[in-house]
Amino acid sequence: MSNPFSGIITPAMKTMFTNALDALHASDGGTVPCRLTFGDTSWDQCPNCEFDALRGRSKNEYNGTGPLAFTAGICPICHGEGRTASTTTETIYVIPMYKKSRFIASVPVDIIENTVQTQSTIDTFASIKQAKTMVLDTDMEGLTTNTYTRFNEPQLCGFGDSSYVVVLWTRSA
Ligand SMILES: [Zn+2]
Repeated sequence: MSNPFSGIITPAMKTMFTNALDALHASDGGTVPCRLTFGDTSWDQCPNCEFDALRGRSKNEYNGTGPLAFTAGICPICHGEGRTASTTTETIYVIPMYKKSRFIASVPVDIIENTVQTQSTIDTFASIKQAKTMVLDTDMEGLTTNTYTRFNEPQLCGFGDSSYVVVLWTRSA
């Protein structure tokens, strides 16, 4: 007996599903904002003091425009370093799945508690692959900060094509 459902998954239907998922993945759909943090730290010249280019550090003189004026001692912003560190971050929108039974794609058997799977659109792939940590749902940060570390490599999936990225994260703080 032939499968009564065979042949019903038409290209038009795949497009319809993909469009529906795209709407869900939009920033005003079913997503929450999350902040990716990358491992690289960049150095910016201190905004508060005069920089001594010869010695490669602060002259410990207020530059007249910085946020914290000082007259004596070392610069209170950079502590005499002349530079301040900044970690690169990026906000993306993801759909978080908290229940293991709702995870999609291949899930490792050694998955531990406090693991969340995020689903997002294909354009987040490169950022996720480079990310070290993620703060999930930054709208909640006034109440609680949920920091996760990436557990596996991001995987591509989709309905007939690779339109989405799924990846697992383990709660770290
Ligand atoms: Zn300074």
